[in-house]
Amino acid sequence: MIESNDYGFCWTEIDIDVIRNNLIKIREKVSNDTKVMAVIKSDAYGHGMERISQIISNEGLADALAVSNLEEGLKLRRIGTGLPVLILENIFSEQIPQIIQYELIPSVFSIYFAENLNREAKLKGIKQKIHIKVNTGYESSGVDVEKCVDFIRRVNELENLEIEGIFTHLVSAYDNKKSLVYKQLELLNNLLSEIKKMQINIPIVHVANSPAILAYPESHYDMVRVGTLMYGLSLPFIDTEHEFSQAMELKARINSINDFRQGKMFGYNCKDYICSEKTFATVSIGYYNAPFLLFSDHLDVLIRGKRAPVFGKARMGSLIADITEIKDAKVGDEVVIFGKQFFESITPKEISQRINIGVTRCDSICFLGNGTKKIYKE
Ligand SMILES: *Cc1c(COP(=O)(O)O)cnc(C)c1O
Repeated sequence: MIESNDYGFCWTEIDIDVIRNNLIKIREKVSNDTKVMAVIKSDAYGHGMERISQIISNEGLADALAVSNLEEGLKLRRIGTGLPVLILENIFSEQIPQIIQYELIPSVFSIYFAENLNREAKLKGIKQKIHIKVNTGYESSGVDVEKCVDFIRRVNELENLEIEGIFTHLVSAYDNKKSLVYKQLELLNNLLSEIKKMQINIPIVHVANSPAILAYPESHYDMVRVGTLMYGLSLPFIDTEHEFSQAMELKARINSINDFRQGKMFGYNCKDYICSEKTFATVSIGYYNAPFLLFSDHLDVLIRGKRAPVFGKARMGSLIADITEIKDAKVGDEVVIFGKQFFESITPKEISQRINIGVTRCDSICFLGNGTKKIYKE
């Protein structure tokens, strides 16, 4: 709990030690010769890619990093990480000179892109590393698995490219549909044996995402890609809570407290009707800071270690919590939107279930607005 603070009106607290421990546990889940790639795309799932990548690089907590576009890759190079950086998606041909200059590794799934990349690499006199993305089902991008043998044969002939890796995304692992996961793995394994027959050596095969790391050890291959579990976010169908802790907490403060009489109309359009005497706290966070608060009328927040229901819809910069039952609440008190306070806690999983965005996407509630300051606990 804070007394007075200079954190501002709303902020996230990100516990670096939690991320560190989660990554150490992930290492323990995979064999010694399996590498770990930390997925820090989308600003490290809202946790701030600069700080997170620094910790990972400095402490050797992962062997490689993955981002989702060139800009994120360039940001990592500016910070100065020495780790290999794979760009998972969203790559365009005009970005090739920068990919080469900053030694980033693109995912490749178009022959047109591969030829352009090869031409530029030849001009620069280098051999450019690439990873081939295979679509084994359920993905919108990637080389279709049926066309992949031919694709790899052609790419392998491009002299200035080095096929360092091949990967697929186990979308089905999020759905608890074992047979679909095994189908994806079978398609990949067939492809890998075809590649072997062509005597093409691709050293790094990587497949597993967070659910697959836990539920499908046969999907670990040479490297796993981890996002969700590293941040301690929940997975559908798998209990992670007792082993992996959540790194991020979202907090704000009580800005004012007011008593209201029964029968008062309230809120925009005066559509919220108060049925009994109420005490309301105005809390300094709104949907500009945390877009999921657009659905705030289904949520609770924590004040003085107790649950306070949110009343009505949040506004852009504030929300109203019903503190009728929390008599000792004071202006300035810390309010937890998600995270822990004394013995109570609210998880992203609870929020995503209550606002019905689906548990698979409970990571999305970490994507907060720029108006939310990040405080790192080391
Ligand atoms: C985002 C992403 C991951 C990380 O998945 P988690 O389930 O969050 O660990 C892995 N692979 C690819 C291709 C991704 O886009």
